[in-house]
Amino acid sequence: MLRKKNARLSLLTCLVLLLMVDCAVTSLEPQASSRGQDATYDSMISDLDRPGIIDFQQVVGADWSIIREGLIDLDDPKSVEAGLQEGPEPIQIYFFVLDHPKQGRFLIDTGMGQVFRQPADEWPISSIIQSQMNMDTLKIRTTTEEWLKNQNRKIQGVFLTHMHMDHILGAGDIDSAVPFYTGPREATSTSFLNMFVRGTTDDLLEGKHLVELRFPAAAQPAEPTTSEQEPLQIIDFFGDGSLFLIHVPGHTPGSMAFLINGKDGIHLVLGDTCHTAWGWKHNVVPGSFTADHEENRHSLNELQKLASRIKTRKIYPGHQNLD
Ligand SMILES: [Zn+2]
Repeated sequence: MLRKKNARLSLLTCLVLLLMVDCAVTSLEPQASSRGQDATYDSMISDLDRPGIIDFQQVVGADWSIIREGLIDLDDPKSVEAGLQEGPEPIQIYFFVLDHPKQGRFLIDTGMGQVFRQPADEWPISSIIQSQMNMDTLKIRTTTEEWLKNQNRKIQGVFLTHMHMDHILGAGDIDSAVPFYTGPREATSTSFLNMFVRGTTDDLLEGKHLVELRFPAAAQPAEPTTSEQEPLQIIDFFGDGSLFLIHVPGHTPGSMAFLINGKDGIHLVLGDTCHTAWGWKHNVVPGSFTADHEENRHSLNELQKLASRIKTRKIYPGHQNLD
């Protein structure tokens, strides 16, 4: 009896210890950066009146399919009303190319790496994660190396919307001297679940130089207020009003969205604060893939508000295209 009780106690101790082993998503240590100028919501909106100077394009790396309950909160009343069910949802993997006339070429996210043209046992992803992530449904359209090779333009930097695996699959195709910019605490905040992905994240980002951006501290309101009224934190990255980085915590701690003043109009890249076209149209947050639903809710509301204030050429959910 006593032995049984002891066994139960030690099992409990093990579980408690296991739950305490939180870790960061990568063992790479980001370097701090003060690049970019602090911007406010209003200064950003008025800067966007200037003529756009960035050549902007979206590149489709792969078609893929993954569980809808991860991508969309199926318990949201709007999902229930629409009769959305669990099951596979067709999605895509992208990267974005920004060509600035003076600052050169930057990417948002990394697309698909050349290594994924090889058999699956050569991929830098553990077989457990491959099966969890439904990787057998992945169909490559173009790898990042294939797309970049005839371009003869050096990449000056890569912005990561966040550090989930499907956004760093093409990192290996990018020169290791290129800085990879992340949002606040994206690479350093800890969670228990990171234990399962850390090895794969490290392999995909091997040799990369991570740089954590500093966003302006949120202004302290004079009166206590609800999170609904907290302002967005924004950086004018080049200091010329052509590219704004917006900290949108929730999906992950350091998630970022991007507002690009392109030659052909304004582009809003949402990242995985909203994965799907349906989620954006109905203002429904992601499902189980999001770490903090409340914060994600706030960030998505703020992006919707922003989109209603400006005339965009196109808005890009994380994994699908809007019509
Ligand atoms: Zn994603």
